[in-house]
Amino acid sequence: MVCLTVVFYSQVIHSQIKIPTRNFSDSLEYSLDSLTNLYGNNKTYDSLIAFPFMIALSRFPDLRHTDIRIIKKNIFTTMYARPSIRRLFLQRDKRRYFILVDTEIEDEPGIYFKLPMNAKIGLIAHELCHIAEYQNKSIWKMLSYTAHYITSSGKRKLEHQNDLEVLERGFGWQIYDFMKFVENNPALPPKYLEHKKRYYFRPDEYVKLIYSHPDYAF
Ligand SMILES: [Zn+2]
Repeated sequence: MVCLTVVFYSQVIHSQIKIPTRNFSDSLEYSLDSLTNLYGNNKTYDSLIAFPFMIALSRFPDLRHTDIRIIKKNIFTTMYARPSIRRLFLQRDKRRYFILVDTEIEDEPGIYFKLPMNAKIGLIAHELCHIAEYQNKSIWKMLSYTAHYITSSGKRKLEHQNDLEVLERGFGWQIYDFMKFVENNPALPPKYLEHKKRYYFRPDEYVKLIYSHPDYAF
């Protein structure tokens, strides 16, 4: 009976999360304990990121058992994902990935800590798409894939592809909200804004992709 209840509850959560959602709030619509039971295996993180991390993971069944560690660090961008170099040559199921979250921007808390919940989920989903792409590749294919980051055009192409995958995973509105947050904050460091403009979709470009995607039709 307990088992059946768990299965039922799990299906309810899956069905609620599977359809693209315009807004996730941090109201306790989803129980963090239940989400953690379903998606928290082999994941290391702290309470500041727990809820958006679990919601984002809900659409990455391919990363259910992958070792992913969230680390807070003062970095140039808001968040970025990378594999553990020490484990790179191990079997795929032994790989480890880090998601670095910026702690500071111009002596203030990093952008992540100022984002609305929806945008936090979108940003984490963006990084999980990178990890899913890496995890899907052999070490040699991963290295040749990341080599495209050397050129500006290669980097733009991969980041655009990645945000198309975010759309496929059902978090189009969430990454759009992150893009809008950045666009509406001209006080952010000019270098950061320039970086975003150069390599990522603009919000007005991305919203057209959302409206033309069949999963997002009303
Ligand atoms: Zn990226």
